Amino acid sequence: MTIETRTSIVWDYGRAPESTDHIRLKDRYGLFIDGEFSEPADGTYVPTTNPATEEPIAEVAYGGPDDVAAAVEAARAAAPKWAALKDLERAKYLFRIARLIQEHARELAVVETMDGGKPLRESRDVDIPLAAAHFFHYAGWADKLRYGVNAREVSPLGVVGQIVPWNFPLLMAAWKLAPALACGNVAILKPAETTPLTALLLAEICQEAELPPGVVAILTGNGDTGAALVREKDINKIAFTGSTAVGRDIQAALAGRAVGLTLELGGKSANIVFEDAALDQAVEGIVNGIFFNQGHVCCAGSRLLIQESVRDEVIAKLWQRMGRLRVGDPLDKNTDVGAINSAEQLSRIEALVAAGESEGAVRQTIECELPERGYWFAPTLFTDVSPAHRIAVEEIFGPVVSVLTFRTQAEAIEKANNSRYGLAAGIWTDKGAKAFEVASALQAGVVWQNTYNHFDPTAAFGGYKESGFGREGGPAGLRPYLQVVR
Ligand code: NAD
Repeated sequence: MTIETRTSIVWDYGRAPESTDHIRLKDRYGLFIDGEFSEPADGTYVPTTNPATEEPIAEVAYGGPDDVAAAVEAARAAAPKWAALKDLERAKYLFRIARLIQEHARELAVVETMDGGKPLRESRDVDIPLAAAHFFHYAGWADKLRYGVNAREVSPLGVVGQIVPWNFPLLMAAWKLAPALACGNVAILKPAETTPLTALLLAEICQEAELPPGVVAILTGNGDTGAALVREKDINKIAFTGSTAVGRDIQAALAGRAVGLTLELGGKSANIVFEDAALDQAVEGIVNGIFFNQGHVCCAGSRLLIQESVRDEVIAKLWQRMGRLRVGDPLDKNTDVGAINSAEQLSRIEALVAAGESEGAVRQTIECELPERGYWFAPTLFTDVSPAHRIAVEEIFGPVVSVLTFRTQAEAIEKANNSRYGLAAGIWTDKGAKAFEVASALQAGVVWQNTYNHFDPTAAFGGYKESGFGREGGPAGLRPYLQVVR
């Protein structure tokens, strides 16, 4: 068999669904305030549904202003004792939470996939292990805080409100809670409305870890709950991950108040392929860059910049590789691309793809059988994209990649930086010096070389321009949760 025939084999896999009989979900979840689950003041519960089946999974409380006030009061009461705890004792709680996430990993992965639509392969191999790793990492920092800030004396900020999106629900909760608690703050976390379940399981983990009541609150609800948390008077900091529009609203609401703020917002990241790159490896990176988590990734490599001399070859290889992506049941262990998170997100993707077509870009969408129920969008490639097209400018947040080309290194840099965002970028080249030169000219918080979407709790993550400010991860992630005393 020649290499060509061998690599052109398309494997036909049988179904390999993960079982769901081991998960223990309640029918209904209240708000986690002061270490206990309690009824929301106005009694509102809303079902959270599985986007792959449209079936309800559990009912979840929506917190209103009274609940927000109760959570802040409980947090304020818990704050002095938590801050005064010996650093090593605080670390022990974080280590315990990390280990419990590992113990419950299988259940957390299945629930994450059911609630959000992401392939089980990703929740099992990326989201949950990385969430545990963040708690481990910051547990290690709890007694070394001053070394994270140039050996200055530091103290916690107090009560922090944290608002997260739906694309990496447990992982974003870990990115927020682990550094905040390690630094001696108490936290109120507001999960996204479509994916509250793993945060609620994390609340149960906090109970199992015997975390003192009030140190963590999980306040489920919608944008109104988040807005009420931002406007609560007795709060010291807001950390937000989500869309640029909401980030702007939060910044305006906090203007003139002595409240700390970090914003992790949207992106339109450039993935740059130079002609000297290992092209097959680059194609894998392009696929991982845009189709990982259905493209619901803030740093997704959604603008693919290919050097003109290798454009046709890269596009041909990419299109062939895309044809092998398995789209469908997220609980199937062989699935590469799962369900779109919600009907609203699906219509946003459809609207932008329609704009791409009407503005004259050329669309290719892979042929595949999509389940009858649920929200789906097949992996899509746009060529002949001009830098002014909406699909080259706006965040699609779906499995859609827009291809642009460049001739020289300078043009690649100029096109990559031609965005109001600046979250991440990828550089594919065989030349180390070129990679460093390009990376230092890019206005992007994270630049990957010959890889993409590679996350590590020890590395800082955050944006430039309208992608936000502040860093999460590594020692840089401590700074937003500390004040320097001397
Ligand atoms: P979103 O901004 O609509 O919602 C994010 C969170 O904010 C949710 O919990 C939501 O309930 C809450 N919220 C909504 N309105 C609010 C308000 N007025 N005040 C306070 N809170 C409010 O974003 P989304 O659609 O859930 O997530 C997608 C966006 O998140 C994308 O733009 C993506 O790029 C971004 N994101 C960024 C990062 C990053 O690290 N930079 C990571 C993941 C996602």
